[in-house]
Amino acid sequence: MVHWSPFVQQFKKHRYPWIQLAGHQGNFKAGDQGTILKKLCSKEQTCLQQLMKDIIRPYVPEYKGEVERDGIKYIQMQDLLCEFDCSSLMDCKIGVRTYLEEELQKARENPKLRKDMYQKMIEVDPNEPTEEEHAQQAITKPRYMIWRETVSSTANQGFRIEGIKKADGSSSRDFKTTRTREQILDCFISYTDNNKNIILKYMRRLKAIRATLEASPFFARHELIGSSLLFVHDNTEQACVWMIDFGKSNPIPNDATISHRAPWVEGNREDGYLTGIDNIIDIFEEMYTN
Ligand code: ATP
Ligand code: MG
Ligand code: MG
Repeated sequence: MVHWSPFVQQFKKHRYPWIQLAGHQGNFKAGDQGTILKKLCSKEQTCLQQLMKDIIRPYVPEYKGEVERDGIKYIQMQDLLCEFDCSSLMDCKIGVRTYLEEELQKARENPKLRKDMYQKMIEVDPNEPTEEEHAQQAITKPRYMIWRETVSSTANQGFRIEGIKKADGSSSRDFKTTRTREQILDCFISYTDNNKNIILKYMRRLKAIRATLEASPFFARHELIGSSLLFVHDNTEQACVWMIDFGKSNPIPNDATISHRAPWVEGNREDGYLTGIDNIIDIFEEMYTN
């Protein structure tokens, strides 16, 4: 495992180190006992408020209101790590795309050719650009956005690993080209140390999340983009999963419906959230039975 240091912060208020696997450092602060503060985004706040009234509530961090520190507004929420002892963590970003349709449209309105995105593309796959793109040594942003989801497991599995930090101190965020089911299986085996008790607990929790989502009024009316499942286990074999990060979860128009499983075609807003959960459960089942 490549060594990469997650943001380990020793909050004075907490007795344990707090670990942040994704996002910007500085977005989080210690809150009152058992809570953390995340920089306020009103879209996320609205979602958390609605989620507190939905059947998914047991699977998301408890929303504890809004607070202000040094003139900056924060959402206060349950710290999911506080019940764990020297934990292992994994953040999986769920869905077949990680950008909003609006972001793609916006990128299209600005037809500027991007040399930096061409460079990033050929670093991963020198054969990906077309002859024309090679000739101009540049690509458009929407082209880059759509292609990037196919490099990780996002487009084909409906999720990707964002980060892993194990209790032994090893950690990695280098999963941008982890694409196939076999590669993910290897990562999950290493993450759980193939501990069947932990695998079973994760699997049961994931199935409970899926069943609840399938009946949730909130989930039926929202596309969940860039949202993650946060996996946490420890050496006492406690293991749990929660849904986090609702900064890009949007209500869908009243006349629209989404299945969260149908393939995404631009305009249908499908996010592939359940496709991702189905695939994660499938992989855990394979680990458990082997
Ligand atoms: P991005 O959009 O880039 O993913 P973000 O700023 O929206 O980042 P989150 O994804 O919500 O931030 O969280 C980043 C990381 O912080 C998570 O991967 C997880 O490690 C940690 N984290 C977030 N919420 C909680 C929580 N309630 N309890 C414990 N850890 C959390
Ligand atoms: Mg996130
Ligand atoms: Mg986010």
